Amino acid sequence: MSRRLAEVVRPGDVVGRLGGDEFVIIAPGVTSPDRAIEIAERARRSFALPMDVDGLTLTLGSSIGIATTSSGDTSVSTMLSEADLAVYEAKAKGRGEIVLCTDELLMTAARLDQLEHELRSALGAGELALHYQPIIQVRTGAVLAFEALIRWERPGEPPVDPSVFLPVAARSELIVAIDASVLDQVAAQLVRWDEDDVHRGVRVGVNLSPRSLMSPDLEQMVLEPMRAHAVDPARLGIEVSENSIIRGSGDVIEKLDRLRASGIRIIVEDFGTAYSMLARLEDLPIDVLKIDRATVENPGATPLMQMVMATGQHLGVKVVAEGVETSEQADRVAAIGIEAAQGFLYASPAPPDRLLATHPSSASPTSD
Ligand code: C2E
Repeated sequence: MSRRLAEVVRPGDVVGRLGGDEFVIIAPGVTSPDRAIEIAERARRSFALPMDVDGLTLTLGSSIGIATTSSGDTSVSTMLSEADLAVYEAKAKGRGEIVLCTDELLMTAARLDQLEHELRSALGAGELALHYQPIIQVRTGAVLAFEALIRWERPGEPPVDPSVFLPVAARSELIVAIDASVLDQVAAQLVRWDEDDVHRGVRVGVNLSPRSLMSPDLEQMVLEPMRAHAVDPARLGIEVSENSIIRGSGDVIEKLDRLRASGIRIIVEDFGTAYSMLARLEDLPIDVLKIDRATVENPGATPLMQMVMATGQHLGVKVVAEGVETSEQADRVAAIGIEAAQGFLYASPAPPDRLLATHPSSASPTSD
């Protein structure tokens, strides 16, 4: 690849490898962004050509970021960090993109840095609170469990949804600190419910980010809050995406296996949206399969729901339909034989003190 890059640049340009799979081209005297983009296009085409390695034909993609000296600051560190920002943006857009670092991109990055800073303070100030959404037994309306969903409660403002701030947290280890705080809050809430004799013995599912799943401290991070608050680990479920478990490295699966052996339930969400290797499922630590909202709301996806239900039965695990909003969807779910559902039809996520008001039958919860 280095040799190929050296072939696409002009005499006098410099090609270097920053480390790992990162390369840099320094092209002095390029007079316009368009010329820089031309060089990047040549590099991208050259990278994409198949390559023979030990009898195998391999193809590689590339994401390219361009920084120019137009911002006036031509120090090496600024140029590299601007190029890095553009590469990050190129990767976010999908493979094979070329992105120029513009003033707009720099401003967006500055805004994101500011948001990350505020989020860190919010975590310290206890502004990241949990709302809970019940998972309902379709037949009886009883509450089987809750899912904990994080909200940023900024004083004097409406709660901010996680889709707004979690991607910012996921850029760094901040997301792991947030997940750890959620686990601690859930353990404390379970104790409070028991003490107040509401939702006694109920189970709660918590979302874990891929970064937390990959953390070497995952088991400690999940089990320690349960120990500290003297809560039975069997009351905690961790929700992981289908992709992270099906395609997870052996390491992730071993950690989940051990957590499961400690009593933690493993809930696989968005099940059916990725390509699942059914034969492999049998060996994976799974307790619950969740069907995502897009599948639930699409009448054409009924066969897919039936397939997930059959898979759940075969594996001996529970199946939950997520995002049920209408009684038609609830009927479809019930007709397939799915016993548990979650969605606005039954109750929206709400803070713990408002949960009773959201669903009358939550006064007499059963646990699954
Ligand atoms: P998710 O795990 O798929 O959570 C379900 C999302 O669907 C929640 O959005 C919930 O409010 C929403 N929802 C529930 N029922 C319905 C419905 O009937 N219709 C519609 N349209 N939406 C429904 P929310 O709370 O905004 O959370 C979004 C995502 O953020 C979650 O998706 C989860 O991936 C992530 N998340 C939430 N809390 C945490 C957390 O504490 N830690 C981490 N790492 N991720 C979290």
